[in-house]
Amino acid sequence: MVTQHAAPDEVEGQKVGAADGAGARRVALVTGGSRGIGAAVAEQLAGHGYDLVLTYASRADAAEQVAARCRLGGALVHVVQADFSVAGAPGAVLAAVDEAGLDLHLLVNNAGLLPPLGSVADITPERALRTLTVNTLAPLEMARLAVARMRLAGRGGVVVNVSSRAAVRGGSGEFVDYAMSKAALDSLTVGLAGEVGAENIRVVGVRPGLIATDMNTGPAAGGRLARLVTGVPLGRAGTAHDVAEAICWLASDAASYITGATLDVSGGR
Ligand code: NAP
Repeated sequence: MVTQHAAPDEVEGQKVGAADGAGARRVALVTGGSRGIGAAVAEQLAGHGYDLVLTYASRADAAEQVAARCRLGGALVHVVQADFSVAGAPGAVLAAVDEAGLDLHLLVNNAGLLPPLGSVADITPERALRTLTVNTLAPLEMARLAVARMRLAGRGGVVVNVSSRAAVRGGSGEFVDYAMSKAALDSLTVGLAGEVGAENIRVVGVRPGLIATDMNTGPAAGGRLARLVTGVPLGRAGTAHDVAEAICWLASDAASYITGATLDVSGGR
């Protein structure tokens, strides 16, 4: 189900952040913008002059707090509820973007779930389907729909896929289905980049390592952050801010010759 909360300061009918010409504000859609890495990305993008569409699954309170912080700097922010395990959620998010009259410049495919820790023996088909639906199929559909709009607008754009070092490490004994879902996302980055480069649409990714967010510190994480941090060459867990810095740089014009690439943001692990 998707519900939308418009920015309270939005003028009805105003085309937020989408005017043509130099100095125009760009619009970014950040999925999973309510917490962790997505929230940090949203706040950094707002600081760089973007207007925003943020999605959340169930934490409306957290999403509204992030939106409020972004608005302090002048960003116009829409908050949209979307559970990507539900069929049709990506289409509903993009319909909300269209309804608001927004021209997307940037999609950050960040929302994701980490299934309970366990071995392959614990992975039921239902669990695997949910993991792949949220972490892979929804980002694919979001990218497909966003790129169609960027293509129509003819001004280029960027898609950033938030993968994981698990894609390369395999997730043995913890979450092989999650690792698979992120490896497939890496393939999307390479494959889609090859299709849309000629339209000045770049597709890039980041592979975060061990990052201190709810995903790793919550009760379901089984203390993995503390257990694994000793194996990080840089000697600490990453922060959501560390990952957001990389995402915002990849999304910026400073990275205009980078596409089809996924950057490890992992302290060397
Ligand atoms: P987080 O703090 O747990 O936040 C997850 C975000 O995704 C929240 O905004 C949440 O919304 C949203 N979300 C969760 N399930 C969803 C669903 N079914 N449909 C739509 N949205 C959903 O996680 P994080 O650590 O910031 O992770 C962000 C991304 O980085 C994920 O793709 C994750 O796989 C990736 N990553 C994280 C780490 C790490 O160590 N933390 C490492 C590698 C990769 P609500 O707030 O409404 O629940």
